[in-house]
Amino acid sequence: MVDRPGFLRYTRKDPGYRSGEDRTRDFKAVELELDEAELLLQATRCMECGTPFCHGYGCPLANNIPEMNELVTQQRWQEAAELLLATNNFPEFTARLCPAPCEAACVLGINDQATTIRQVEKAIIEKAYQDEYIMPHAPSRRNGKRVGVIGSGPAGLAVADTLNRKGYSVVVFDSAKRAGGVLRYGIPDFKLEKWVLDRRIELMTREGITFELKTTVGRDVSWHYLESRFDTTCLCIGSREPRDLQIPGRELGGIHFAMEYLVAQNRMNAGEIESIENELDAKDRRVVVIGGGDTGADCVGTAARQGARAIMQLEIMPEPPELRPEQTPWPTWPNVLRASSSHGEGCERRWSVNTKEFVGNNGKLASLHCCETKCGRDEDGRSAFEEIDGTDFEVDAELTLLALGFVGPGPNPITDKLGVVKDNRGNIKTNDNHMTNIKGLFAAGDAAQGQSLIVSAIADGRNAANGIEQFLAK
Ligand SMILES: Cc1cc2nc3c(=O)[nH]c(=O)nc-3n(C[C@H](O)[C@H](O)[C@H](O)COP(=O)(O)OP(=O)(O)OC[C@H]3O[C@@H](n4cnc5c(N)ncnc54)[C@H](O)[C@@H]3O)c2cc1C
Ligand code: SF4
Repeated sequence: MVDRPGFLRYTRKDPGYRSGEDRTRDFKAVELELDEAELLLQATRCMECGTPFCHGYGCPLANNIPEMNELVTQQRWQEAAELLLATNNFPEFTARLCPAPCEAACVLGINDQATTIRQVEKAIIEKAYQDEYIMPHAPSRRNGKRVGVIGSGPAGLAVADTLNRKGYSVVVFDSAKRAGGVLRYGIPDFKLEKWVLDRRIELMTREGITFELKTTVGRDVSWHYLESRFDTTCLCIGSREPRDLQIPGRELGGIHFAMEYLVAQNRMNAGEIESIENELDAKDRRVVVIGGGDTGADCVGTAARQGARAIMQLEIMPEPPELRPEQTPWPTWPNVLRASSSHGEGCERRWSVNTKEFVGNNGKLASLHCCETKCGRDEDGRSAFEEIDGTDFEVDAELTLLALGFVGPGPNPITDKLGVVKDNRGNIKTNDNHMTNIKGLFAAGDAAQGQSLIVSAIADGRNAANGIEQFLAK
């Protein structure tokens, strides 16, 4: 038992990463772990607020964070795991990958450093697996209702897991060879080693969920087939249509979307392919990643491991401040400078830069023509960028990766054939119960809410499962 309140005595401690030189030699996870004694001290820093903003404002899953911290300080690990799993189907994913909006909203963060909630979550879930509190528990009775889920990313997995636990018979379809969506094929192993995903998929399979992989719904199986086989179906097809950069020279060889690049490396690591196509290999090349977000950072870390000669990441937005600016006050998500582990692996970052042209040699990319910009607002209040005269510069590059975000689910055989209605942002339109314009067809995750986070995809999947239950109860 440890004394509370710990925030008066202990400062926040993060586990940090493996050393820089060592970690780029392999694709193993870079984040270290706090030992149990340190973790208990960190959990005591929680003030058990009467109005816990971490839970009610920050966490899309409304995890019961103060109670969870309290159970950990009392070393009641199994109860902590039960509490965590009551709101989060897959804490082992969020504990490794979530940017932790709960920590950004932590009350302690107003004038001190926030509680280390994500690390506590990771310790709880890993101990639960290790001590076998998590064992396959197939429902004792099936209710006779059958649900099809299209897409096995975090949203589809959350729909499937939530309904399976309640006795529905669930089949998950995916075009890919293995389940997991972006968790499997987008996010690099150095952020999420794939045994973590395999462990969960195996558990779900043993609990009675069926995965039908290498099956594109709308092409390999029809809506008519789904209707005959299931009482209802949920589309969790993700947001995969990448934003392009249509500037002169875009047709040159050596310019690729981030996902093409990341998928190739993930498939190679998994042994699905023997080698990476030369075009998608950064070895000995100068690499420019356009887009300063997480996907861009994943490209930076991958290029470092492939042996790139130099890596630069360009972002059109201005460099954010180190401290929370007044435009994003507590408890909102702060617009501050963030550095992922990849940024410590030999990457030059530049902000307020616009790429005007790709310059080639014999059909292949040789350099990028860029300029500096200043950011203002257009009449609708959106960010607008103005070129600063006389700031043009060239960056030599043989490989450029476009990590400019995603514009929606894009064309998909199942939504196209059925005429599923989309909103003005290109995402699948649903009602409050997550049902699309097609009766009995639901949607969840990035395909419906736009590109988001794993935690939001899980939350959306849980909500869609509730909508499905209500629909089937009628
Ligand atoms: C490179 C990258 C890194 C990211 N890193 C993070 C991070 O660190 N932390 C974080 O919180 N979020 C991160 N995100 C965001 C997060 O991964 C997504 O928000 C999340 O995966 C969305 O889940 P989803 O289930 O909606 O879709 P997805 O994960 O995209 O899964 C959709 C699945 O549907 C399948 N599918 C599509 N159409 C069909 C069809 N017709 N038939 C059968 N199957 C079909 C696809 O094959 C795919 O497997 C990242 C995103 C990317 C792209
Ligand atoms: S807001 Fe922070 S200090 Fe308050 S209960 Fe949540 S984790 Fe603990």
